[in-house]
Amino acid sequence: MIIRLQDIEIEVERKPIRNMHLSVYPPNAHVHLSMPFFLSDEDARSFLLKKWAWICHNREQVLNQPRQTQREYISGESHYLFGSRYMLLLESVTAGANSVVIHGNKIIMHCRPNATRDNRRAQLQEWYRAHLRTILTELVGKWCEQLGEAPVEWTIKYMKREWGSCIARKRHLVFNLDLARVPMECIEYIVVHELTHLAVQNHGPAFQALMTQRLPNWKLLRKQLNDFIALPVEDIIENEQNPL
Ligand SMILES: [Zn+2]
Repeated sequence: MIIRLQDIEIEVERKPIRNMHLSVYPPNAHVHLSMPFFLSDEDARSFLLKKWAWICHNREQVLNQPRQTQREYISGESHYLFGSRYMLLLESVTAGANSVVIHGNKIIMHCRPNATRDNRRAQLQEWYRAHLRTILTELVGKWCEQLGEAPVEWTIKYMKREWGSCIARKRHLVFNLDLARVPMECIEYIVVHELTHLAVQNHGPAFQALMTQRLPNWKLLRKQLNDFIALPVEDIIENEQNPL
């Protein structure tokens, strides 16, 4: 269902969930509302009106974000590592191993002259993955110890919509490869967030209280993370007895 408010179309989808879940997606600031089956169209409409300021603000934020345009992996492009911006510089090599090194504010990628865009992309992704793995090993280890958690398993995956996820019953965490691009303190926030899902599986008050106890500035870090890179801005509204 589409609800149109002023000149904005909002896609409304009913799901077997308990809470309203409002998102703004890059790159076009598409607004999406997931809502429980037990609420009516009128509920959705009045909810959206109530969140109107939030919607406008976040649409603007998303539209003003530096675009993650289609990358070509060629010299001159900007690429981020741990929140710092670098300029990519390709150097073709005909012998020896392909490699990626940082030199000053440049990421220098040594690759074959006939490397395709996909080859270059894969080479850079592997480099990102290696960097992220090092940081995550450190952060997951540190926080498991600090929280008295038994060790967990974790993997790095490219994900379109989430920074991380947690399968609590398997004690398995998944981290988005794109985290290699964001500031370290934001990666730490995601690590603590996913580890906290071992104790509480939703984002309700208990989860938030635990987060505040563990990482008092987590809300600020979450905002910093969402401002930094084009993943959807989300607002999960806990559904109390009378949500509207
Ligand atoms: Zn979560």
